[in-house]
Amino acid sequence: MSKAHSQASDSGKPRILIVGGVAGGASCAARARRLSEKAEIILFERGPFVSFASCGLPYYVGEVIREEKNLLVTTPEIFKRRFNVEVRLRNEVLSIDKTEKVIEVKNLDTSEIYKENYDALVLSPGSSPVIPHLPGIDLPGIFTLRTIQDSNRIKTWITEKEVRQVVVVGGGFIGLEAVENLANLGLSITIVEMLPQVMPNLDPEIALRLQEHLSAKGIGLKLSDGVKQFSQAPSKKGIIVTTRLGEELNCDMVLLATGVKPEISLARQAGLEIGELNGIRVDSHMQTSDKNIWAVGDAVEVRNFISREWSLIPLAGPASRQGRIAADCILGRQSSFRGIQGTNVCSVMGLTVSSTGLSEKTLASLKNKIPFEKVYLHPGHHAGYYPGAKMITIKLLFSVPDGKILGAQAVGEEGVEKRIDIISMAIQKGATVFDLEEAEMCYAPQFGSAKDPVNMAGMVAANVLRGDSPLLHWKDLDSSRYYLLDVREPLEFKLGHVEGATNIPLPTLRARLDELPKNKEIAVYCAAGQRSYYATRILILNGFDVKNISGGFTSHKTAKPE
Ligand code: FAD
Repeated sequence: MSKAHSQASDSGKPRILIVGGVAGGASCAARARRLSEKAEIILFERGPFVSFASCGLPYYVGEVIREEKNLLVTTPEIFKRRFNVEVRLRNEVLSIDKTEKVIEVKNLDTSEIYKENYDALVLSPGSSPVIPHLPGIDLPGIFTLRTIQDSNRIKTWITEKEVRQVVVVGGGFIGLEAVENLANLGLSITIVEMLPQVMPNLDPEIALRLQEHLSAKGIGLKLSDGVKQFSQAPSKKGIIVTTRLGEELNCDMVLLATGVKPEISLARQAGLEIGELNGIRVDSHMQTSDKNIWAVGDAVEVRNFISREWSLIPLAGPASRQGRIAADCILGRQSSFRGIQGTNVCSVMGLTVSSTGLSEKTLASLKNKIPFEKVYLHPGHHAGYYPGAKMITIKLLFSVPDGKILGAQAVGEEGVEKRIDIISMAIQKGATVFDLEEAEMCYAPQFGSAKDPVNMAGMVAANVLRGDSPLLHWKDLDSSRYYLLDVREPLEFKLGHVEGATNIPLPTLRARLDELPKNKEIAVYCAAGQRSYYATRILILNGFDVKNISGGFTSHKTAKPE
């Protein structure tokens, strides 16, 4: 049955219809109301909640967030009272007639189908989990985590089936957040990941620290292996996950975290342009190929801020900013989206991992190549003299020769996201590593250092660009070409060193210069790169041909992951 509820749209009151009531849709609705008291704004959401905290779902499963109501950022009643926005829950938009500017909607409670016309339509339908077509995929006990209902189903299954063993398929950020929370419940977990690393947005040497940490915490890690099939255990209790490499993992529950794909069915049906990555194509004003339709959030592909290539990066912050931009543009303000940097953070069982901008992997795959260099450093998250300093591993990528910051990745226990947020903002402002050197940051010993890790990253990179500290990476160390010099203390050397290295501790270096070859390049390292920098300067000023190995001995084991 089809029934029209259309209202006049030429009354000077723009009629704004929004599909999807979470990050992008809700922020669009609220912003639109702040810009116009006249607009009629209706939000359609096929689920039973508006504006819920999807990012909180893993923590709800893990009982860190104890009550479902705490996930509800707002309600239809609050939307009505505060913003005069009508929210229609359990109303699914079925189709768009862009010529007539009409949508068809189904009330999922009554099965009534009706039509609404619009002056402006905003699509924020999000993304849906990628569900691999594998034998046994429909077995009970296999879940995805996307909605509050999914979380409740998982929680019920864990309790009712007395779950002990879980296989998490996919080691991206949703998978890892789930691992942390399931482990908090005392469950035993194995991750199966097709790629040779977890967190695919990171470079492998940074992901390695996460992998070591997960293993140390007792998480099983099957990398470079995928799932071949799921089958019911003979006892009918539990599932057997068979991997492509032939391993059989017995478990009571499987969580699929194999990525998400943009929800484009409505857009495709309406004939809107779909991009090369299968996201809705929009311009910088979030306008689709139809001038009356805007689209935001996980469903759209947008330009990467740095490379300007099309990207699909499903994150809440960009979705909500894009919702705001769409509302601005609909109501006559010329806001535009600058592009996405993919700034993200994830907590992994006591470690924080965060990144922004382009990784080395992405830089290597760009169509328009950007000449770049990278540095590694491992500073404490605050002054070393104050108790409790924890090491942060930082990788900074920058263009050569101008030093423009291209990306950064960091992992550590404390203070990680603060550094990445600063670098993220620096990237937005087109800053260089020379700007990071000069950045003024707050400092007291329990929070940072007079030379903050961000300054240090800038200084290390700037030293490279100025030629003060020629750089070498472990993977480029050719032992036949270089004389390898370790300038750490003898005890450090004894506890572990790189094969073939000669130990001349920094304090004795000036007195022992005659032991060094004049006719061979010297590659120098210390623990993290600072003492070797001092050594590099001494050697350069004494006429030696020398390179400082980035990240020192700490980076050595990650440079050649086994
Ligand atoms: P969504 O928030 O997914 O909203 C889309 C809504 O549209 C859905 O509720 C859907 O029901 C509705 N809808 C779709 N089609 C229709 C239709 N035809 N009619 C009516 N309604 C429709 N991001 C971060 O930045 N940080 C995090 O820590 C983080 N953690 C996450 C953890 C989990 C478990 C998940 C699943 C996501 C996480 N994200 C995180 C990603 C973030 O939630 C999304 O990027 C963001 O919600 C996208 O917003 P959106 O408006 O595009 O889509």
